[in-house]
Amino acid sequence: MGLKRKTTTFFFILTVIMVAALVGASLFSFRYFALSTAEDQARTAAEIVRVHLTESMVNGTIDKRKTFLDRLAAVKGLFNVRVVRGPGVVKQFGAGLKSEQQLDSIDKQVIQTAKPFFGLVDSSGNQLFRATIPYVAQSENEPHCLQCHQVAKGDVLGAISLYLSIEEQRDQAFLIVLFMALVIGLFAVVSMGFSRRLIKPLIDTAEAVQLAVHGARKGDFSARIQHQSDDEVGQIAKDLNILLVLLSKGLEGIAHKVAGLIRYNQPIGENQLATTIEMVESLEDVSRFKQAIEEDETKEEVYWRLSKVINDDFMIDHFSIYEVASSKNKLKPMVVDGVPGHDCCWCDPQILVRADACRAKRTGHVVDGMSTTGICTAFSPREDLEDAYHVCIPMIQSGSVGGVVQVVTDRDRKALACNMMPFIEVYLREAAPVLEAKRLMSTLRESALRDPMTGLHNRRFLQEYVDILVSYTDRNKSSFSVLMADLDYFKQINDTYGHEAGDATLKALAKTLTSCVRASDLVIRYGGEEFLIILRDTDPEMSLQVAEKIREAIENMKVELTGTVVQRTISVGVSGYPDDSSSFWQVVKYADVALYQAKDTGRNKVLRFIPEMWKEDDAY
Ligand code: GH3
Ligand code: MG
Ligand code: MG
Repeated sequence: MGLKRKTTTFFFILTVIMVAALVGASLFSFRYFALSTAEDQARTAAEIVRVHLTESMVNGTIDKRKTFLDRLAAVKGLFNVRVVRGPGVVKQFGAGLKSEQQLDSIDKQVIQTAKPFFGLVDSSGNQLFRATIPYVAQSENEPHCLQCHQVAKGDVLGAISLYLSIEEQRDQAFLIVLFMALVIGLFAVVSMGFSRRLIKPLIDTAEAVQLAVHGARKGDFSARIQHQSDDEVGQIAKDLNILLVLLSKGLEGIAHKVAGLIRYNQPIGENQLATTIEMVESLEDVSRFKQAIEEDETKEEVYWRLSKVINDDFMIDHFSIYEVASSKNKLKPMVVDGVPGHDCCWCDPQILVRADACRAKRTGHVVDGMSTTGICTAFSPREDLEDAYHVCIPMIQSGSVGGVVQVVTDRDRKALACNMMPFIEVYLREAAPVLEAKRLMSTLRESALRDPMTGLHNRRFLQEYVDILVSYTDRNKSSFSVLMADLDYFKQINDTYGHEAGDATLKALAKTLTSCVRASDLVIRYGGEEFLIILRDTDPEMSLQVAEKIREAIENMKVELTGTVVQRTISVGVSGYPDDSSSFWQVVKYADVALYQAKDTGRNKVLRFIPEMWKEDDAY
């Protein structure tokens, strides 16, 4: 029940109770006074009759008492005045007048008990006051009863019985009670109106506060309370308004600052509090993500973490993360559907070899296939996904597109994915510079570990790689072979055709060497024209076959120079880990020793290291 209704009900009940109490009390007191007045009047009348009768007896006019009694009965308000005789009087003076003989039950009771009767009785539908008062024989005053009556003191001589009308008093009482009830009713209505006027600001403020608090609980702080009075209630309205403004502005400020930080202005919905909390949480998530990727060691880890966010946080199963190759004309799928190194499966594979076929890469703009179906012709969804839609977001790194993230969804999740896109973009904006830095680091590192001319790994790489290689081989109880290869009479090419011709020969040699071994093997430019080849999981027997294959390939290799073609042979020394030594560098030395044996014994040959080749001098 509302405060307004409660107040009205309270005043109404109060008025009813007051009127009822007043009417009750008034009626009770009027009845009491009416009866006691009637009783007094009856006693007076009885006394008058007694005095008159005594006087009549003394004067000898008692026989004329009937006239007196009849005249008494004619007095206004008095009815049926009778005098009845007690047994003592009847015995002494006879039955008396006819009216004196007609005793009713009350008369008899009064004469018998000597106690007066007063009470209301019904007479022809009217209420009348009946009084029957005994005359008791006494001897105190002169003349006294015992002088004439032959009775004992205290005997009942007779009684007077009379009726009094109380209608007039009753009517008056009714009018007075009615008047008082009206006055009280009027007073109650006036005081109710006045009180309601007095508490109206309180009720209005309470209702407005209730609405404002209700709204605030739902995150809406826009309500304001009308300030109606300058008392405490008005102060509550003022203070609450200040609080609401503070909260609203504070939350707006926080949302604005967070939006600035994540560079995404989320529209503030009805629930300002929920929106702000959501934005602060997004900021916290993005900040955690940023810290994590900055601490990641490689770009691959960053791609994987980004893929986890898309997959786990945004619940997107189908997506691709492409990296634009440093040559700018190729795309490499880094993660597809959460799997690193997965083949491209949501686009025409031509984008891998011609990056500009990818619209997002070419334009540097978001390609929204959810709003504009068919916008990118390279989008080629798998057949198992009905009604596929895509959005491709370019990752801008140093002013150009360094990668593209593609989100693919079906019809059911399209709207959800659409809502998530701004948040995914926030993550991509954070990831782009970190990925660029990691790529740069990796390129720098890669260049430090590779020989720029041949593109082969260098000796420094070998130094870093050797621990991994040895521990892998030991763990798998495997073996590997080391081939040390050196071109025969290479210096002559430099001397005869110039340094550039020498370089071209070395490049051709590097290519041939790489083509002769498996992808898992390693070809390293160990020195000027010395190459070290590591054949993994290979026993010495097999390694000799590979070395022979290399020797033959080089023998048949023709290097075309301007105006001439050169052909050279190669000498190869072979050793094995752990057959020859459990020290990697010792195995390398053994291969070198075998190589020089090959050189010394005519060149263009492959020699397997045998312990006899080792002289103590070689140790230095
Ligand atoms: P051998 O059969 O005994 O191996 O004779 P060789 O001439 O191949 O051997 P030597 O060690 O006498 O000569 C190696 C030459 O390779 C010396 C050096 O100038 C040349 N060389 C080393 N690095 C490069 C390079 O990067 N480019 C060119 N053009 N020549 C290089
Ligand atoms: Mg040489
Ligand atoms: Mg040499």
